[in-house]
Amino acid sequence: MARRKKVYEGKAKILYEGPEPGTLVQYFKDDATAFNAEKRATIDGKGVLNNRLSEFFMNGLTAIGVPNHFIKRINMREQLIRAVEIIPLEVVVRNVAAGSICQRLGLEEGTPMPRPIVEFYFKNDALGDPIVSEEHIIAFGWANQQDLDDMVSLALRVNDFMSGLMLGVGIKLVDFKIEIGRTWDGDFMRLIVADEISPDSCRLWDIETGRKLDKDVFRRDLGDLADAYTEVARRLGVMPQGPSGVSKPTLIN
Ligand code: UDP
Repeated sequence: MARRKKVYEGKAKILYEGPEPGTLVQYFKDDATAFNAEKRATIDGKGVLNNRLSEFFMNGLTAIGVPNHFIKRINMREQLIRAVEIIPLEVVVRNVAAGSICQRLGLEEGTPMPRPIVEFYFKNDALGDPIVSEEHIIAFGWANQQDLDDMVSLALRVNDFMSGLMLGVGIKLVDFKIEIGRTWDGDFMRLIVADEISPDSCRLWDIETGRKLDKDVFRRDLGDLADAYTEVARRLGVMPQGPSGVSKPTLIN
């Protein structure tokens, strides 16, 4: 079989050259990392679940007119995406306090935000992805004011879409991270949602019980991560039979 050219390998995904110019193949691994890769594990089925969930969310965004990189799913672990120039920022939206904002501002986990808060972090593992202000972003040339306005608008549209979708299946969207890329149509540049949207990059709490259904299950050893992601997928009607594609045996009376 012809070997594809690997373009980039990250902690949870690999990018290969795509079949057409301007496309890439995004492969979802089963690897999980946390705390800037200090904690690592392989979780059977995670890549399959995230491939399907990211497909589902990106298709939904396309349907409501939020531009994103997704073209089509290729197989259980791979999807075809548009190649973009990733802006070196993680864009985080928070609806409820959890994670780093609790330490930074002394907030109790679970405190509702007065309104959705958009934050930017500089993507740099060696520095531990530090939070940055719009001032830094513009001064260092990572994005200009127009890009920033577009990024905030994209992030808030993703937040509204994802919050509504999750609310419909009894899940609170606490916070999430997206990455945004530049793409060119001739001389015309636009910003689109890239990377992935999955329980790896969101905090999702069951509204009734508070059960965590996201990567905090792994970060804090709260149980089986694949079970939590399977529950999210099942509620959304994605892969109702679980990542193996095989339904569990049922008793016949
Ligand atoms: N997040 C992510 N990748 C990162 C950092 C954060 O996907 O490198 C997500 C994280 O899962 C959460 C949100 O962004 O949904 C906010 O994360 P936070 O700043 O609270 O950091 P954390 O507590 O995850 O280190």
